[in-house]
Amino acid sequence: MNIILFGPPGAGKGTQADNLVRDYNFFKVSTGDLLREEIKNKTPIGKKIKSPIDQGSLVSDTLIAQLLEKIFLDKNYSNRMIFDGYPRNLNQAKNLENLIKKHNQKISCILSLNVDLDTIIKRILGRKICSKCGNIFNEFFNPSTPSNHRCDPKFLQMRSDDNVNTIKSRFATYEKETLPILKYYEGMKLLHQIDGIMEIDQIYGQIRGIIDSL
Ligand code: AMP
Repeated sequence: MNIILFGPPGAGKGTQADNLVRDYNFFKVSTGDLLREEIKNKTPIGKKIKSPIDQGSLVSDTLIAQLLEKIFLDKNYSNRMIFDGYPRNLNQAKNLENLIKKHNQKISCILSLNVDLDTIIKRILGRKICSKCGNIFNEFFNPSTPSNHRCDPKFLQMRSDDNVNTIKSRFATYEKETLPILKYYEGMKLLHQIDGIMEIDQIYGQIRGIIDSL
């Protein structure tokens, strides 16, 4: 089964994807994480994409298509992918459909987390990511503590695009380019709308209910 986690930046897609990876045999495909890895490793791609990411716009579809093609070629990930932050526009949604067909797979459901801009700003400004284990925490909603996180707190970092200006333009990019995909998926009857304002565990409970029923 492959799943798409859909929603604005800060909706909790990464957190819920991590929960699913922990409890089911899923593999998380976060294009944002893949791009940040390129920046961290200072690759030629990383140098090109830093500026659009810091401005809150999308990087090129061609580059994203190349990253995805590589993932699909690895048979270890077949039919156990959770897409987090992908697809981001209609062109990417169509490209995903082609990849799915070409590699004989299917999308089982699309989970859309709905959250308003004020909540997003608060969530994103509290977001801290551990550079050692990759886990995501939130100063206000889900702080790192010795019982839920073993790494030294010195590894907790904010993302360079987690500031108010970039958040607003990321949200605007989402509304303009990403939201129209929902209409496209509504026609496919795979879509589940989830109230993303609820507590992390409540949201996860709903997600589990949907996945277990498939
Ligand atoms: P995320 O970690 O999903 O919030 O993504 C962080 C940033 O990476 C976005 O604001 C975009 O600039 C870029 N990005 C991530 N995924 C994509 C994608 N599928 N297409 C284009 N740009 C992306």
